[in-house]
Amino acid sequence: MKRDIIAGNWKMNNTQAGTKALIKDLAPLVADATCEVVICVPFTDIEVARKAIRGTNIKLGAQNVHWAPKGAFTGEISAEMLKELKVEYVIIGHSERRQYFGETDASVNARTKAALLGGLKVILCVGETLEERESGKTAEVVIRQINGGLEGIEKADLKKIVVAYEPVWAIGTGKTATAQEANDTIAIIRKAVRKLYGKTAANALRIQYGGSMNAKNASELMAMPEIDGGLIGGASLKAPDFAAVVHYNK
Ligand code: PEP
Repeated sequence: MKRDIIAGNWKMNNTQAGTKALIKDLAPLVADATCEVVICVPFTDIEVARKAIRGTNIKLGAQNVHWAPKGAFTGEISAEMLKELKVEYVIIGHSERRQYFGETDASVNARTKAALLGGLKVILCVGETLEERESGKTAEVVIRQINGGLEGIEKADLKKIVVAYEPVWAIGTGKTATAQEANDTIAIIRKAVRKLYGKTAANALRIQYGGSMNAKNASELMAMPEIDGGLIGGASLKAPDFAAVVHYNK
């Protein structure tokens, strides 16, 4: 049985004090969650978050990882470094990384391979821009991102990957894809995965929706048959808001 996964992407928010306070507020609110609960925090908050989530059901994630095991890559962080801090998940290929930091399908693929090799689980982000959607290219774009991101990755490793479908036009904008739009595109993504790995593996893959998901729309989105979770930006920064998304089924 697949277990839904709700992950918070804190982006570049919260110092260590804020991290401690937010987790302290959040932990009791999500203690009864039936889904898997993850927070993906800035690198500098990982150690504090690791301690703060001890004894809770909250899992720890980071927001990026480098493709090399070590070396002259100023400003980067390796999978081994994250693993040492007990990080379990890492977001790779977020649209903000693609848009502002030159992330490509090839670099997303290299980072994904390094994360898996280093024992991390991956939240692999894909999604089309507004221009791509309006010109009818959504399917083409997400299929390309899936094929590129997963190139050379073994079927056995697919179990350690969660895909996040995040239409770029819906991230941080307050515009959500309708539940039907999200479901339809996720079905296209799953079909692309089926072509690569077969039906059983594709059906077992968890695919999240992300893009202005919040307490108001989470239930409707999560009720869709193809949607197995959410990647939550803005609404993950306040404990009651994130807890409400985690309780989408209540
Ligand atoms: C995100 O950054 O992954 C995201 C979905 O952000 P928001 O929920 O703020 O749209």
